Amino acid sequence: MKTLLFAANWKMHHAPAAAREYLGVFLAAYAPLPNRHVWFFPPAVSLVAVVDGTRGRRDIQTGVQNIHWESRGAFTGEISAAMAHDAGARATLVGHSERRHLFGETDDQAARKTRAALDAGLTPVLCVGEQLVEREAGNTIAVVERQLAPLAAWPPEDVRRVVIAYEPVWAIGTGRNATPQDAAQVHAAIRSWFTARHLSGDDLRVLYGGSVNRDNIAALIAQPEINGVLVGGASLDPAGWSEIAGTRV
Ligand code: PGA
Repeated sequence: MKTLLFAANWKMHHAPAAAREYLGVFLAAYAPLPNRHVWFFPPAVSLVAVVDGTRGRRDIQTGVQNIHWESRGAFTGEISAAMAHDAGARATLVGHSERRHLFGETDDQAARKTRAALDAGLTPVLCVGEQLVEREAGNTIAVVERQLAPLAAWPPEDVRRVVIAYEPVWAIGTGRNATPQDAAQVHAAIRSWFTARHLSGDDLRVLYGGSVNRDNIAALIAQPEINGVLVGGASLDPAGWSEIAGTRV
């Protein structure tokens, strides 16, 4: 049975009080399942509430949505990977398309953040994916490969710790999702990219994200190439998320 990762990206939703209320409902509804992990990415101000609220649940981990690549310094408004780790985070999203396209984050910055996360003991979930014009021009794989390129120079033992989330930008929050077959095809290309660089593509965890919901989850996780999902909108309701995370394979 393959191990599956269900990651909830709350984006800018659920302040600490709402996060505690959410967990009250979620934890009552969702019992641990074998080979299944649930990760929450709350806003940084709610990190401690989620870490505390899920203590004792070994199947659940908490992360942050963004970090800075430096460990400390005069970077007003930023938090470092080490700080997030100290507060209880064990993972971080990196290079989410909203960071890239709304806040101008570059491939180079995403790579530096990924490196910083690894150095601080956080699992980076590096988000990659093409925009609609890039897909229509037939450039999906080229875009994803460009976003992965900085990892090629890193030692395989580091790269193995990176989780990749393939999230086509046109599918995020739009209700338009890639078909499970389209997603699996890009996942296979991501894996071959790693294998071609002598980084074991089989060990790699590759998630799909973009308008995942109750109706499409079963078909997505049925794809052998897909190791889990990164879910925004449909993770905000605790009852709905417990149903999605509990989907039978
Ligand atoms: P969505 O977001 O599930 O709302 O499309 C996914 C994401 O942005 O990670």
